[in-house]
Amino acid sequence: MSKLGLKRSFIALVVAAAGGGVPSQVLAESALVRTPAEFASALPRLQPGDILTLADGEWRDFQIVFTGKGAADRPITLTAQTPGKVFLTGRSNLSMAGEHLMVSNLVFRDGFSPTGEVVSFRKSRTERANYSRVTGVVIDGFSKRDRTESDNWVALYGHHNRFDHNQLSGKTNAGTTLVVIRDPEQGLENRHAIDHNYFGRRPVLGSNGGETIRVGTSHASATSSFTTVENNWFEHCSGEVEIVSNKSGGNTYRGNVFFESEGAMVLRHGDDNLVENNVFIGNGKPNTGGVRVINRRNTVRNNYMEGLAGSNFGSALTIMYGVPNSPVHRYVQVDGAVIENNTLVDAREMSFGAGMDAERSAAPVNSRFAKNLIVNRDGHDPIRVQGDMSGIVFDGNVQSPAATKALPGVAGRRVTLERGKGELLLPKGLKDVGVRSDLTFIPREQTGVSWYPKTRPVAALDSGASQAVAPGEDTLTQAIAKVAPGGRVTLQPGVYIVNQVIGVDRAVTIQGPAKGRAEIQFSRPNLFEIGSGGALRLSHVTVTGALAPDIAGAAVIRAGQGAAQYQLIVEDSAFQDLTVNRSFNVFAAGPASVADRIRLERVTVERATGSVIAGHTETADLGTYNAEVVEVVDSVFRDVTGPVLDLYRGGTDESTFGPRLTLTGSTFERSGLGEAGALKLYGVQRTEARGNRFVDSGAPSFFRRVGYPVLVWSGNRFQGTPDLITNVTPLETTP
Ligand code: CA
Repeated sequence: MSKLGLKRSFIALVVAAAGGGVPSQVLAESALVRTPAEFASALPRLQPGDILTLADGEWRDFQIVFTGKGAADRPITLTAQTPGKVFLTGRSNLSMAGEHLMVSNLVFRDGFSPTGEVVSFRKSRTERANYSRVTGVVIDGFSKRDRTESDNWVALYGHHNRFDHNQLSGKTNAGTTLVVIRDPEQGLENRHAIDHNYFGRRPVLGSNGGETIRVGTSHASATSSFTTVENNWFEHCSGEVEIVSNKSGGNTYRGNVFFESEGAMVLRHGDDNLVENNVFIGNGKPNTGGVRVINRRNTVRNNYMEGLAGSNFGSALTIMYGVPNSPVHRYVQVDGAVIENNTLVDAREMSFGAGMDAERSAAPVNSRFAKNLIVNRDGHDPIRVQGDMSGIVFDGNVQSPAATKALPGVAGRRVTLERGKGELLLPKGLKDVGVRSDLTFIPREQTGVSWYPKTRPVAALDSGASQAVAPGEDTLTQAIAKVAPGGRVTLQPGVYIVNQVIGVDRAVTIQGPAKGRAEIQFSRPNLFEIGSGGALRLSHVTVTGALAPDIAGAAVIRAGQGAAQYQLIVEDSAFQDLTVNRSFNVFAAGPASVADRIRLERVTVERATGSVIAGHTETADLGTYNAEVVEVVDSVFRDVTGPVLDLYRGGTDESTFGPRLTLTGSTFERSGLGEAGALKLYGVQRTEARGNRFVDSGAPSFFRRVGYPVLVWSGNRFQGTPDLITNVTPLETTP
């Protein structure tokens, strides 16, 4: 016993006695363990009320299996010697089974779980945890390296479990951050509490499976889970179109804050759910949404939404069309929805009848939309109606500055807003419409833990030091190897020869001279390969393909296989003579890679046999693609075999927002003369092309695959070039 550091001690426990909660002295064992072997040896001896403590330090490759049977007032606890000083790293995870267990104050980082879960409320299919609690646990960037490899960070099984005051951020691979898994064997009424957690950065996954929370599956969605999701923060949870995917009945979502998160709180499956007192703050960021309503008897009331810029399935408020006699996995008709006393300030869109198509043909029925306040301070009318809304009673709603013509039961009047005590905008002199005036939201610092930062700073481009590098052979390679994240190398006029592929896994800038020409030549098939989390900025450089070998897959810049959350920015630069191979690209996306952003500005490409941006490796047709945002501005493409831009997003999945393309002020000359044309945009969700010139080039094409892809096509001039080929009606807007 002594060598395990076990000691008998009296520990004061507060026993919630009916008589008034007087602390009583209970004999409890407290064990401090320093190795997994000590842990395993101490575990079987634990009695209700005992505390097992992991010593401060790093626990590498430790798969904790924590089992036991505590009592309601005396749980068995696993905790850290010091909060914030016990790190589970490498291939680690935690699974629990038993009753009245409590785990607290552990940090998972610098690794990933070798299984499908990081924290699991079960040890095996038959051994689960009930009446148990996980609190104060941090999971920080504990993602599998390949973003397509799926896991759930937290899986709640069993019933009556609580997950509170935890902090989860930086999940970059597929799979839900927190999931409630239900099955009849364990009982479908889970009654879990998920509260006061901080759900941090969840970058765009680029496919389905990027939800932050999912409660249930479509399969058992006709039954009730009775789970409560309350007082949590969701900050930058932008994995996919569903931030929360509710897939069961009887759940409550109350008092949560959704801050600049792309996607929406989605009542995807299940009936009788309640969404109330939540606060959504979009700050005008793209794709920030509110609540989406499907199914029966769901209530959405007293929610506050400000600055949400999302549209369609991710609009501030979306009421969907359903499928008649819908199978459980499709869209059950909206029936008996109550949507009242919500406030929407500066929403870009409220979508009534979203998803209406040949299959989803059932309009909402028996529903009520009342006493909602809709204010757009710039006069925009966000209300968009498709289909028949006569099954909804509209009553006592107020819209400012004027009532929409699209719906009844909305009175127009000019409303002045002021910040109330709870920091939310409230209408002056208007009662009983919109949210209650005493609505507040939980402060960020009251979620998660106090002893670990909520965000880890990532060095941004050009945030670090500059270092000059002289022309010559391999000088650039050596200089970049030494650059710290956020650093920059500055080139003088002259020729730089690179004889290996330069990996970019952090923020790096290569800055050429303002006068004179810095030319880079390279002797491998690629000059740069960008990995996950990398950011590359090229400015004032010229790259030629003169020395490159004749090897398939040649590209100046390549995104590595599975690379995600990376950026490429090229400005005031030129690419020339990429001709040695029959398909030599400027940029090529590797398989399963997805860029946050690719931007070309004032870039000239002359004589290339491939594409300027080749983003078409995601051909599994699962709604995945290679770049979230592509921007091409004031650039010139001359004698590029093409297609100059080749972007592909296949399949009918509706979980993702990208790709989005902006193409302005650019010129295509004698480019895209192959079969695919100058531009090949397949399944791109939003394209804005303005003020471009196509001279003696192949036809650009834009093909809609699913959803509501938007093509804004304005002020583009054609000379010796066939017309745009498309299956949508382009929106012409004033340039
Ligand atoms: Ca989803």
